[in-house]
Amino acid sequence: MTMKERAQFTKENKGEYTILIPNMLPIHFTFLCNVLNSQGYKAELLTTMHRDIVEEGLKNVHNDTCFPALLVIGQFLDALKSGQYDLDKVALMITQTSGGCRATNYISLLRKALDNNNLSHIPVISLNMSGLESNPGFKLTMPIIKGFIFSIIYGDLIMWIKNQTLPYEKKHGETEEKIKKWTRLLSDELKYKKVKYKMVKKHFKEIIDDFSSIECSEEQKVKVGIVGEIYVKFSPLGNNNLERFLIDEGAEVVTPGLIDFILYATDATLRDYILYGGNLVKNKIAKMLKGFIVRVQNDMIDAIKYSGRFTPMSTFNHISNLVTGYVGREMKMGEGWLLPAEILELIDADVQNIVCAQPFGCLPNHIVGKGMFRKIKESHPSSNIVSVDYDPGATKVNQENRIKLMLAVAKRMAH
Ligand code: SF4
Repeated sequence: MTMKERAQFTKENKGEYTILIPNMLPIHFTFLCNVLNSQGYKAELLTTMHRDIVEEGLKNVHNDTCFPALLVIGQFLDALKSGQYDLDKVALMITQTSGGCRATNYISLLRKALDNNNLSHIPVISLNMSGLESNPGFKLTMPIIKGFIFSIIYGDLIMWIKNQTLPYEKKHGETEEKIKKWTRLLSDELKYKKVKYKMVKKHFKEIIDDFSSIECSEEQKVKVGIVGEIYVKFSPLGNNNLERFLIDEGAEVVTPGLIDFILYATDATLRDYILYGGNLVKNKIAKMLKGFIVRVQNDMIDAIKYSGRFTPMSTFNHISNLVTGYVGREMKMGEGWLLPAEILELIDADVQNIVCAQPFGCLPNHIVGKGMFRKIKESHPSSNIVSVDYDPGATKVNQENRIKLMLAVAKRMAH
């Protein structure tokens, strides 16, 4: 099927077709779906986690393809074959990063997989901010962009502070209850109300206060940071539920949020303009967007600091400075300079134990991930970093054994 012939998501399809969204971060993506629904779409988040997804991926994409693509495409096809959806009234949404990496082309792999299964009539919507593919029935409007930013910041806040209560809660399940409560409340608001920034700032305090009320033990667990390629870093499907595994092994997990990745991508657009020139309007929009996101992130960090109960994350500005002398900020393939920057951010916050989650065969992230370990360890000898590869053939036991080894060193160092 040529690009010209691709199935389009038309204006008439809006509100009538169910748009399936693959899951990467359960809290954040629930909010994102609700933002779309507030604008008249009918979006649904796929929350499936079973092994058939990998099998479906293996059947439909080459096994040399990036593992995230294999899982996302596998999850879509598994859903389409589940019998739960009217195949004449369903569409799929996938991001196109527009960077130099293969993530820009997952969409073509997905269309090929649909074609192989006689499903090429199903429209695929590209989510991108760089003017790549478009569909007459979907437009990335200002309310959607703003809603997405608020969704990501809410998701980051909840993820960050819940990691500081979950391993210590005295009443089992209390943190989970608070997550559910706030996911429900904020989802309703994002779906039914016009969200103003004043409200968002007010919610920062309310969320922090609510999580502060969770009674926790005084015990100090070993802190373990998670960094890596964006999908396997965050997605429980991609990393075999790494966060849960670490908590069960007695660790406190520290995961830098998604907003830094968005800022990193915006920063890359601005750097491209400095290096190569380009569209002045696009550059101005990127500058404005970055300024707004930085402001929102700083306000969230201030709210955490003000509470005095939780350790805040670092600002984007601080992370960007930490990486100086390690890798240039022009390095923007895969997670680029952000990956070593997040390792340094964790070490700077005294989180010495770090799991770097990488899809097997992901060249850019092996260079900016594993490839940076030696340099980082030279300047931070007490850091304890392990790289774990994720791919369809890797066994969970092997991955967990590597992490257990790292944890054993971590626990020895703590005593
Ligand atoms: S960063 Fe790695 S996993 Fe992601 S598209 Fe590039 S090669 Fe694939």
